[in-house]
Amino acid sequence: MILTDLILSYLCYSLYDLLGMEELLETIQRLKLRLSEGNLKTVIIPHISADGDAVGACSAFSSVLEQAGIENHILTCDFLPDYLKWLKNTEKAISYQDKAEKCKSLIAGADIIFMLDHNTIQREGDLEAVVKTFAGQKVIIDHHPDPDQVDFVISDTRVSSTCELLFTVIREIWGVEAITGEVANALYTGINTDTGGLNHNSSRPETYLVIARLLELGLNKAYVHENLYQHNRLSRLRLVGNSLLNKLTVHPVYPVALIPISKEELEKYDYKEGDLEGLVNIPLSVENVLVSIQITQRKERVKLSFRSKGDIPVNAWAKEHFNGGGHLNAAGGQSSMPLQQVVQKVRDTAAWFFDRYLPEHRPE
Ligand code: 5GP
Ligand code: MN
Repeated sequence: MILTDLILSYLCYSLYDLLGMEELLETIQRLKLRLSEGNLKTVIIPHISADGDAVGACSAFSSVLEQAGIENHILTCDFLPDYLKWLKNTEKAISYQDKAEKCKSLIAGADIIFMLDHNTIQREGDLEAVVKTFAGQKVIIDHHPDPDQVDFVISDTRVSSTCELLFTVIREIWGVEAITGEVANALYTGINTDTGGLNHNSSRPETYLVIARLLELGLNKAYVHENLYQHNRLSRLRLVGNSLLNKLTVHPVYPVALIPISKEELEKYDYKEGDLEGLVNIPLSVENVLVSIQITQRKERVKLSFRSKGDIPVNAWAKEHFNGGGHLNAAGGQSSMPLQQVVQKVRDTAAWFFDRYLPEHRPE
């Protein structure tokens, strides 16, 4: 490890953090030892409906495994979104939707499965049943609470993103030399998108130390931003515009914004995976709105996205009533009920949530 990295590790982990980091660093060392064994076959899995953090982590990790001569395959239960396809190695991802048998045989023949940006195999869609039968070792690299107790749990809920944590994992195992420009681009993609462009969940200095280091290592920030934010389609802009103009409402009693979006609307505006990324954050820009919930009718289920300000734990709402979970300020869930019924359930359960977590907002 070169001197600047020693200094960086020191700066990154204040004494308080170091205490919490000890176990994490030990697990990373155990993984390093395991990965030093020859002839390993590995599989990398992101969560269902992969986002910038999940895809960035898969891209970066696949690249460093490749450089280290470790066989790896990215397997997805659905499809990676088009807006992230510029990231290296995303083209080699294999979808269970069109290559189920290939996915099954790669999993059966693997020594290690890396679960990136999710805490439980329940977030692996149709791959869950296949992974359940897997007899080898599992590694979680993630930042969500309550991770499954697998063989290697590298999880830290304090970091902005899985990609921020993955920077440490890569540095500890292979050294920063492994972080090429393309790996740096992928890691920064996760940090940037999971924080809404360094808007939320990004108040720790460590996040910026990692970004600074990525810039030194060849991160092309302008290139990443161009790919993430300047490749809009007009139809996408209109879908977002229609949602804000015609669909957004605020709960009559509680400071909750709701955006229901039907299947027909998605079709009308030529919806592509990722087109609604970021929409749910916009209502939080209204002063008196504390919680924003997007309710989207997808193929066979209704998907809910929750966002909140301050320390309002919307993950509790998602978990209790919508079979979901996530972070304090960004959570998700789903329902098999029709869209209108889900909207009604959100309206009805607002009282439960505010009574329990924000009693000061209870109506007179
Ligand atoms: P999004 O609203 O962007 O889909 O999800 C926000 C966050 O909520 C994700 O990072 C993930 O942690 C969590 N999340 C989304 N959907 C689910 C779900 O169905 N179950 C659980 N446990 N977490 C979810
Ligand atoms: Mn994430």
